[in-house]
Amino acid sequence: MTQTSLERENGNTELWATIFGPGGHPALTKMHRLYRWLPAAPRCRLCHVPFAGIGGWIMGGLGKAPCKRNPYYCSACDAFIDGQPGGAEVEMSVLYVDIRNSVKTASVSPTSDVARRINTFLGIATDIITRHDGFIMAFYGDCVVAVWPPGFVGPDHAEKAIAAARALSRAFDADSHIPAGTGVHVGPVYICTVAAGEGTFRDISIFGHSVNLTARLASAALAGQALASVEAAGGLVGEARSLTFKGMENPVTAVTL
Ligand SMILES: [Zn+2]
Repeated sequence: MTQTSLERENGNTELWATIFGPGGHPALTKMHRLYRWLPAAPRCRLCHVPFAGIGGWIMGGLGKAPCKRNPYYCSACDAFIDGQPGGAEVEMSVLYVDIRNSVKTASVSPTSDVARRINTFLGIATDIITRHDGFIMAFYGDCVVAVWPPGFVGPDHAEKAIAAARALSRAFDADSHIPAGTGVHVGPVYICTVAAGEGTFRDISIFGHSVNLTARLASAALAGQALASVEAAGGLVGEARSLTFKGMENPVTAVTL
C-alpha cells in the first residue's frame, strides 16, 4: 500500500502512547470495564461498545452505533480518530495466523468453496483472538493480524497472545479442513491512525520490524504449528530453533509452542 493511497499519520504521540501503552487511557479503560458486561459482540475496536444484542440496541440509541463509513468503530470513536490523528511506538504482543496451501487449494477448488473456507477461517480465528482479549488489526486475504496493547489488556499481554496462538494451532491443526500457521512476537510497534481516500476512510494500523518479524514467523510455521519469538515465549520451555529470514540481518530464535 502506498503513502498516497493510505496516508500514515504523525502527531498526538503522547495521547496514542497513553491509549495503547502500559496503564492505558483512564477514560478508555473505564469504558472497556463498563462495556464488557454489556452483550453482545461484535464490538467497536476502540471503546468495545457492543454493536449487537440488547447492549447494542441501548448504546445505539445513545449515539454509539457502528459508524456508516467505518463499521469496525462506533460513530464516537470514528470521530475521535478523525479529530486526533497520530500514533506512537508502544511495546506489545503481535500475532499473525494464515492458512497453509491456500494457493494450491484455490487452484483446484470452485471459487465459492474458496470464499466459504476463508470465511470459516476468519470467523473461527476472530472468535479465538477476541476471546483471548486480542485487538483485531486486519484481514489480509487468508491471514488475520492481531495485537495485544498493554493499555487494553494489561501487563500480561504476552501470556494472552501465547494462549491465543496455542488455541489457534489446535483449531487449525495439520489434519483440519483449514490447516494454518501462527506466529507471535513481543516488541516495539508503531501503532497509528491511517487515512485513505482524502480522509473519507480512517483506521488504526501497525508498522515496523516487529510486525514484519511476526509475519515471517507465521509463514515459517508448519500447518497446525505456532512459533513464538524468545521475546514472546519468555521462560516457556519448548523446542527452540534459529531461523534466518530474507531481508533481516540477524537470525531469529523461535520456540515451538
Ligand atoms: Zn467506540
